[in-house]
Amino acid sequence: MDNYKIGKQKNIALVAHDNRKEELINWVKENYNTLSKHFLMGTGTTARLISENTGLPVKAFKSGPMGGDQQIGASIVNGDIDFLIFFCDPLTAQPHDPDVKALLRISVVYDIPAAMNRSTADFLLNSKFMEGEYDRNIVDYYSKIRKELLLNL
Ligand code: PGA
Repeated sequence: MDNYKIGKQKNIALVAHDNRKEELINWVKENYNTLSKHFLMGTGTTARLISENTGLPVKAFKSGPMGGDQQIGASIVNGDIDFLIFFCDPLTAQPHDPDVKALLRISVVYDIPAAMNRSTADFLLNSKFMEGEYDRNIVDYYSKIRKELLLNL
């Protein structure tokens, strides 16, 4: 059965495009105490740089352009990731843009907290829900649409 609960200990994915990696590393340093209470993972280069610069353990997927964003998306679908911090670059076209778009879409479908900039990330980390569990509201859009379609036939 799918697990729609975000536990007290969150499974947080960290991703940053090259122009924003430094900003994400600094943000992780600033929030070291909070983040150290959770499970961290990220796309290859981002995960490695965060580990090296902060000492926090960060499980590494493949690098983004090699499919890392897709792996994170699949982990969200599988219930292994329930929180996303993604500092994306708004000015540079990415070769793996379709993967990035897919990841953001799947974050919406699975109703996980997802921050794409620092202020949202700050608000998320300081939310009362960080201290406890949270029930996600996942709508099975596809079944819903199919049911409506069948009723109209
Ligand atoms: P990277 O991938 O952490 O391996 O650089 C991030 C991305 O570009 O999506």
